[in-house]
Amino acid sequence: ARPVVAIVGRPNVGKSTLFNALAGERISIVKDTPGVTRDRIYADVSWLNYDFTMIDTGGIEPDSKDIILSQMREQAQIAIDTADVIIFLVDVKQGLQDSDSKVADMLRRSHKPVILVVNKVDSFERDMADVYEFYNLGIGDPVPVSASSRLGFGDMLDKVVEYF
Ligand code: GDP
Ligand code: MG
Repeated sequence: ARPVVAIVGRPNVGKSTLFNALAGERISIVKDTPGVTRDRIYADVSWLNYDFTMIDTGGIEPDSKDIILSQMREQAQIAIDTADVIIFLVDVKQGLQDSDSKVADMLRRSHKPVILVVNKVDSFERDMADVYEFYNLGIGDPVPVSASSRLGFGDMLDKVVEYF
C-alpha cells in the first residue's frame, strides 16, 4: 500500500497551504461521522519516483475545552494513528508556542517518525536565525520551508521519503 503522510500542528501554521501546494488537483474529501466538524482531506502526491497519500488535518489545539477544537484534536489523532510519517508543522513568524510543545508530546507518544518542518521561512536570509529555537522541541532538526512560496520542499520531501 502507498505510504500515508499526515500534516499536523496547531491552527494557522499553514498546514492547508502546504497540503494544497503539494496536492495540486488530486484532492479528495472524506466525510466523517456527523458531528465531527473538520473532515480529513486526502490527496495522492508523487515526488520523484515516490507515491504517497497525504492527509491534511484541522489542527491540534491541546487542552482546549472548546468542542470544535477538541474534535479537531480527535481528527488529528486519527490522522496520526493512520500515518506512516508525520510532518509536524510550526510557524517561524509566531515562534515557539506552548501548544507546539504539547503537540510535540502527543507526537512522541505516537512512536511514529516525525519531521519537524518550520513554515513561513519566506526569506532564508531574514528568517533562518529564528528557526533554531525549534530545536527546543526535542523532536529533531527543524526543516525550513515556505508553503506559500514553495521554498524548501525538496529538502523536506527528501526527509519524508527516507522513512518509506
Ligand atoms: P492551517 O490552519 O494550519 O491550515 O493554516 P493555513 O494554511 O490556513 O494558513 C494560515 C495562514 O498562514 C494563511 O493566512 C496563509 O496564507 C498563511 N501562510 C501559510 N503558509 C505561509 C508561508 O509560507 N508564508 C507566509 N508568510 N504565510 C503563510
Ligand atoms: Mg487548515
